[in-house]
Amino acid sequence: MQGPQLLPGVVVAGGVAGAGGAPQQHAMRYTGALLTRAVAAALAARHAAAPLPGVPFAAASAAAAAAASSSSSTSAAALLAERAASHLWASSSRRGAHFERGSDSFEEAEASCWSCHDRHKRGSLLCQSCDKIQPADSSQTYFDLMGIREPTFDIDTAALERRYKLLQWTLHPDKSVARTPQEQGFSAEHASHVNQAYGVLRKPLSRANYLLSLAGVQAGDNFEGTIEDPELLMEVMEAREQVEATDDPRELAPLLDSARARQSALEARLSEAFRARDTGAAAALVAQLTYYVRLEEAITAKM
Ligand SMILES: [Zn+2]
Repeated sequence: MQGPQLLPGVVVAGGVAGAGGAPQQHAMRYTGALLTRAVAAALAARHAAAPLPGVPFAAASAAAAAAASSSSSTSAAALLAERAASHLWASSSRRGAHFERGSDSFEEAEASCWSCHDRHKRGSLLCQSCDKIQPADSSQTYFDLMGIREPTFDIDTAALERRYKLLQWTLHPDKSVARTPQEQGFSAEHASHVNQAYGVLRKPLSRANYLLSLAGVQAGDNFEGTIEDPELLMEVMEAREQVEATDDPRELAPLLDSARARQSALEARLSEAFRARDTGAAAALVAQLTYYVRLEEAITAKM
């Protein structure tokens, strides 16, 4: 049985059966390891941009802040939207950040405004007294940032999209001309975090990896050799060969459908695994899902 307290590395050890098995099986595992190595490198890059809660946010790309779409509205409407966003933000913070840590601690639920020193909910975007933009709270998870109360695999992607648009609009650099340089800095920092959070949460694979990281399971530690099922490896490699063998969209289309169907099935199983807090099962499913996501990418690159 694998519980939430599962240590990193246990997943890897999950089924190193057949270490001295048939050469063919060994070869398949080796190929799988090469594939997963590439995947792990990509994930490591992603994790570098997605720091764990409690760890200070890495210097984020300033360009991220520029991605927001602009909108011409009255300043009153803008202020209302900012307040709405701030409220959403504050109401969601300090709630779900504790996938592994257990209960909330209320002593940290408030913070002082850097400008007027009034107390406000920790994680608030704006001070409710003076409307000054507050510094980013590095203890917030991406789920907190995006208004999702509990870290979960089963998110409402339409709601995520709406919140992203609202925050992007609120934090757009064009809106901060009246802000102090300090506030502009905070705003750019928030915008960068929001972009990171949205980027990670919107896709099932990166969302699953992030959930695992919140649970203390490092994908980088676990990916090597997670797929031990020779049939699965064979299937994936055959599909890859089929993709490589053709440039015909009519042949690629059914392969794409198949890769997507496999992803949907794996996502359903991931949802179950996360609901059961079975990080070991989730990590193994993430490894499988990674193969099919890469396969889809390979197919769409040719279409
Ligand atoms: Zn204030």
